[in-house]
Amino acid sequence: MKSRRESNTRFRLILTLGLAVVLPALALIYVNLQHVKSIQRGKKIEALIHRDLQYLLSNSAQKISGKAYELTEKARDDFPSDADSDDEKRRKFDLLLAKNPWFTHVVFYDAKKGVIVQQQRAQANEKELANLDKMYNGWFALDGPHMVEQLCKKTKPIMWFSGESDGPTGSVYTSMGIFAFPQLPRDRMVLGAVSFDPNYLKQNFFPQMLEESTSQKLSDDPQDANEPEDQRLAMIVFPADAMHSEPDRPFAASTGWNGGKPEVSLILDNPFRGLSLGIKFQGTTAQAIAHRWVVQSFAILGVLSVLMIGGLVLTYRSVNKQVALARLKSDFVSNVSHELRTPLALIRLYAETLELGRITKDDKKNEYYSIIRKESERLTALINNILDFSRIEAGRKEYDFRETDIAELVRNTLDSYRFQIEQQGFALEEQIDPGIPKMKVDREAIARALVNLVNNALKYSDNEKFLGVRLYRDNAVLKLEVSDRGIGIERNEQTRIFEKFYRTCDPLVHNTKGSGLGLSLVRHITHAHGGQVEVESTPGRGSKFTLSLPLSKPSAV
Ligand code: ADP
Repeated sequence: MKSRRESNTRFRLILTLGLAVVLPALALIYVNLQHVKSIQRGKKIEALIHRDLQYLLSNSAQKISGKAYELTEKARDDFPSDADSDDEKRRKFDLLLAKNPWFTHVVFYDAKKGVIVQQQRAQANEKELANLDKMYNGWFALDGPHMVEQLCKKTKPIMWFSGESDGPTGSVYTSMGIFAFPQLPRDRMVLGAVSFDPNYLKQNFFPQMLEESTSQKLSDDPQDANEPEDQRLAMIVFPADAMHSEPDRPFAASTGWNGGKPEVSLILDNPFRGLSLGIKFQGTTAQAIAHRWVVQSFAILGVLSVLMIGGLVLTYRSVNKQVALARLKSDFVSNVSHELRTPLALIRLYAETLELGRITKDDKKNEYYSIIRKESERLTALINNILDFSRIEAGRKEYDFRETDIAELVRNTLDSYRFQIEQQGFALEEQIDPGIPKMKVDREAIARALVNLVNNALKYSDNEKFLGVRLYRDNAVLKLEVSDRGIGIERNEQTRIFEKFYRTCDPLVHNTKGSGLGLSLVRHITHAHGGQVEVESTPGRGSKFTLSLPLSKPSAV
C-alpha cells in the first residue's frame, strides 16, 4: 500500500515535470533542429551572405562610377571655352592636364573650327597625336550631331566609350568620357573628351577604390565588429568576358586577394563597361561559414539536450530522494509510536498488579518496582533521542562538558541495563581497563551514545546472544567498544546506517521497532567530543562499534 502510494507520488511528480518542463523544452529543441536543417537544406545562409556581398559590390560599383564621373566633370569645368583662341585652348589644356595626371589626352571639338587634341607632356608623341587628330575629326564630324542630341537627353551628360585597345605594350583597357557644354546652345556642335590613362586606372584608380570598399564591414551590426581574420574581404576587377571562367589575370586587385574565383561578381556598366567586379572572403567561403554555423547550432542544441537530460536525471534523483525521505519520516512516526507503546504497557501492567495488592513478597515487589523504573528509563531514553534529534536538526543542541570518570559512567549505565540484558538471555562481557583518566565530557550524551549502541546490539542479535563492552586507552585516545555476534551489516550499508532515519533491509531489522535515529545521534555526540565512530561488521557474524574520544580537551560545540 505504502509503496503504491509512493510510486503514485513519484509518477505524478515525473508527469508534472514532463508536461511542464521536458515536453516544451524537447519541442523547442526539435523545432530549432528542424529550423537549422531547413536553413542548411535551403542554403539560406550562403544566400544571405551572397546578398550582402552583392549589395557591397553594387555599392562599390556606384562609388567607382561616381569617382570617374567626378573626375571628368571637374575636368569639364576647366575646359577652354569655344570663344578661346586655339593657343589659349592649348594653354588651358596644358594646365588641365598638369592638374589631372590621370588623363592621357583631352579633346576639344568644334564643328566650325575642327579638333584640338592635347596629350600629357610626358607622353607626347607627334605621330600618335596626328593619328588622334585624324581619328577624332572623322569620328565627331560623323557622329557629333547625334552625340550632342543624345547628351542633351541624359541626366548626367557624359557619354562613355571604354574597352580594350592595342597599346605599345599589348592590349590595354581604358575609358573615355565625351561631353557637350550645357552653357552652349543646342545647335552648337561643340564636344569635349577626356581619355583616362590605362596605367593610372590599373595601378592607382582601381586598387584605391577596391581598398576603400574592402575596408568596409560586411554587416553594420556592432556585435560583428571583431570580424574574424579569415572573413576579411578581398576584391578584384577583371575583364567581364572572364565572368564564368576563373579570372586568372585580374585587371586590379585589393590586398588579400589570393587568386581563385570570386564568390560574387558584378558586371560594371559605364564608365567601365567591359570590366567586372568580383568579391570573396580572404580565408574562407560563404559555404564554409554556413557550414560552421550549422555545426555550431547542432552543437549548441546537442549541449542543450545533454543539459536537459542531465537536469532530468538530477531532478528524478532528487524526487526519488524526497519520496524516500517522506517514507522514512512516516516509518519513523509509526516506529516511534510502537516503541512508546511497549514500555507504557509494561509499566501499566506492573503498576496495576501492585495496586491490586496481591503481591505480598517484598523481593517480588522490588522486582516489579525495578521493572517499572527501567521501562520508564527506556521511555525516557527514547524521548531523549527524539528531543536530541530535533535539537540537532534545529541547530540548537548544546553539550555540557564536565570533568567525568568515564569508567564509572560506563559501569553505571551498564548496571541500569544489566537486568534487561540478562533477562533477554545475553551474555555480557564487560571489560573496563583500570586507570582510565578523567576527562571532560557531556555525561548524559556519552551515556546516551552507549545506551543506543547497547540497545542496537540487543535488538539486532538473533542466534548468538552476546554483548561485549570494552573501555580502554589507546595512547591519547579513549576507546569505547560495543560488540555483538548478531546479524551484522552489509559492507555497502556500513556508512549509511549513520544517516538519520536509515534502517537496513534485513528482515530482523524490519520486524524490530526502531526510529533510525540512534546511530545518527551517536555520530553527532562523538563528533561533538572531537572523536569519531567506526563500525566493523560481517553479515551473519556480528558487529563492533568503536567510539574514539581524544583525551585532550575537546572544543565545545
Ligand atoms: P534503529 O535501531 O532505531 O533502527 P539506529 O540509527 O540505531 O536506528 O540504527 C540504524 C540501523 O543500523 C538499524 O536499523 C540497523 O539496520 C543497523 N544496525 C545498527 N546497529 C546494529 C547492530 N549492532 N547490528 C546490526 N545492525 C545494526
